[in-house]
Amino acid sequence: MDFTLQSLADTAIAFAILFAVFLPLERLFPAQKTRVFRAEWGIDLCFFLGQYLLWTAPVVAALVFVNRYAAELPLQGVRAFVAAQPFWLQFVGVILISDVCIYWGHRFSHTNKFLWRFHRVHHTAPHVDWLAAHREHPFDNLYTRLIENLPLILLGFPLEALAGFAMFRGLWAIYIHSNVTLMPGPLRFVLGGPRLHHWHHAQSDDAGVNFANLSPLMDLAFGTYHDPGRMPESYGIHEDIAHGYVAQMIEPLLPAALLSRNPPAPSESVQA
Ligand SMILES: [Zn+2]
Ligand SMILES: [Zn+2]
Repeated sequence: MDFTLQSLADTAIAFAILFAVFLPLERLFPAQKTRVFRAEWGIDLCFFLGQYLLWTAPVVAALVFVNRYAAELPLQGVRAFVAAQPFWLQFVGVILISDVCIYWGHRFSHTNKFLWRFHRVHHTAPHVDWLAAHREHPFDNLYTRLIENLPLILLGFPLEALAGFAMFRGLWAIYIHSNVTLMPGPLRFVLGGPRLHHWHHAQSDDAGVNFANLSPLMDLAFGTYHDPGRMPESYGIHEDIAHGYVAQMIEPLLPAALLSRNPPAPSESVQA
């Protein structure tokens, strides 16, 4: 927990910058007509504050811990090979490997009953915009960060490459959630964009789609790419679970038998 004046100031500055960048974009190029303070805006603000003030530090500490012990694993040959490559090739490797890991890790979190209990928190958002991007259970966040970084850490990719790319990926994640129609034109098959991820959040009974974060190439390769050229009509999940911040923090940790509401029904035929 990090409630120093510095961390509060950093959080306020981050919020102000993102607000100043994305609010005009969402007003000028809205994908959905909504109010600024739309339903559950306060809940998503709690998730934003929770991520910055509570959960980022332990996730980073877990990655540093893993990195420290990875160096002691008998992978010196592979790590030396990676270290000998030029930086641009390492960077391309970081992108490709982490994209493959995120795609399958994300897809698995939709089909695995245990993981879905944490990941569905991200899918309860009734509106998808830059702030809703932060609606994430900390265990789901930890799972995603480990999935995308662990193979790279084990392979010995330099931490600078990982840190720089993680920052870019975080900003990209906010962009693809933003309520804007802006897409990267013909590059959308390589870089994706909000429309693709909004369909991932669509309330639908169709098969899950658009699991990628950065590049939709994995979705294209494995048959989950979906882009009808328009935005979905509604977002969320059919499961009846509490939407409050504290409730969503606690509910995934409760034994399923104790849940009074519908148990999760993870299935690619249920979630999109
Ligand atoms: Zn998902
Ligand atoms: Zn999302």
